[in-house]
Amino acid sequence: MGSLPSAHFSYRASSLYCEEVALCDLASQYGTPLYVYSRQTIEEAAQKYETAFCSIAHKLCYAVKANSNLAILKILQKRGWGFDIVSLGELARVLQIGADPKKIVFSGVGKTEEEIRVALSAGVGVFNIESEPEFERLAKIAAQMHCRPRVYFRVNPDVDAHTHPYISTGLKTNKFGVDFYSAFGLLKRAAVCESVELAGIDCHIGSQLTSFEPYFDACDRLLDLLKKLRAAGIELKDIDFGGGVGVCYRDETVEPIENLVLGLKSRLTQSGFDHLRIVMEPGRSIVAAAGLLLCSVQYVKTTPVKHFLITDAGMNDLIRPALYAAWMPVLPIRQSDCPEVLFDVVGPVCESSDWLARDRVLPAQAGELLAVTMAGAYGMSMASRYNSRRLPAEVLVSGKTSQLIRSRDSLEDLWTNEIVPADI
Ligand SMILES: *Cc1c(COP(=O)(O)O)cnc(C)c1O
Repeated sequence: MGSLPSAHFSYRASSLYCEEVALCDLASQYGTPLYVYSRQTIEEAAQKYETAFCSIAHKLCYAVKANSNLAILKILQKRGWGFDIVSLGELARVLQIGADPKKIVFSGVGKTEEEIRVALSAGVGVFNIESEPEFERLAKIAAQMHCRPRVYFRVNPDVDAHTHPYISTGLKTNKFGVDFYSAFGLLKRAAVCESVELAGIDCHIGSQLTSFEPYFDACDRLLDLLKKLRAAGIELKDIDFGGGVGVCYRDETVEPIENLVLGLKSRLTQSGFDHLRIVMEPGRSIVAAAGLLLCSVQYVKTTPVKHFLITDAGMNDLIRPALYAAWMPVLPIRQSDCPEVLFDVVGPVCESSDWLARDRVLPAQAGELLAVTMAGAYGMSMASRYNSRRLPAEVLVSGKTSQLIRSRDSLEDLWTNEIVPADI
């Protein structure tokens, strides 16, 4: 099944609670499938980073793509966090909740001219540049617009993050970052370019990293580059290690953030780069444990070889199992004494990849509610309307209160932007 994701989820009288609210009550009030988030779990995850960095110059930017709901962004903005964005849509979201543009880092390999223009007009704090043509595009547009954006260069340190290949980004075979050997030449050019201010260096080597060694390897690589730059008379202000800190979905152990921060800081100090401000862009480790997907079992289907629990949530609501073969915990909302059977938990979508969990022992029967936990990151933000399924509703729980933070799509939402030409 899986263990409880944080101290803010508990069974009380055999019924699963998020903070002080019974999940079965949320299911009756808002329907299923439903994303439910524990505010306290988010606050505590953010607090861990803040504590780890408390005596060190730093900047924390939440990676919006992990979960981009405005209410969740607002929680982090109120704590003083900046944001790591990768699209115009994410820029609009963070501006919508009143984020300080100066605290925004614009990442991503494919920034369009339009995105660059809009971000420059908005006064975005830093552009993370991922290639030479992107540097040229940004420098040209900045010159036209008479502004001088601060830039970091994302360097691909060619280190193995030992994570799933789809979420590994720091190997030289990946599309991300400037390749390590070309970086020096490009940074030297940027240092004398009048239309940008070279402020830092960046790497983001992958996601769901459960060991900090790959960060330390990447740090050492970046320090080699910083030393070469220093020899050429170029000093930077910031060093950005991206996001990527893993969480425990099943049995992974992740060291405390302090170990990462202290390890990075001591490497910088030893090499004479103590003055650099450390930037981090965590996404998953801030929101994963806070969220669960509540769904209801429609049918128990038994074939000669398998038992299936068919739920009203599918791969369109939560794609991590289908996309990465991710193992996610599944918990019954009511602990019951109905017999435990080995089930595959699947959705209603017309694809065999539409599964949420495989080979789980669950005491479930038709009509029961289940929670796929650890679903706060890359859950709703990757949801789609495939099979013309409406995007689920989202609820934020804080103590005894629950608030709707996204209503379920209406049927009309499914075709809002579609047009049937009159002469068809
Ligand atoms: C995805 C991403 C992050 C966040 O990664 P997590 O694994 O969710 O912490 C941070 N920075 C960049 C550039 C990213 O692409």
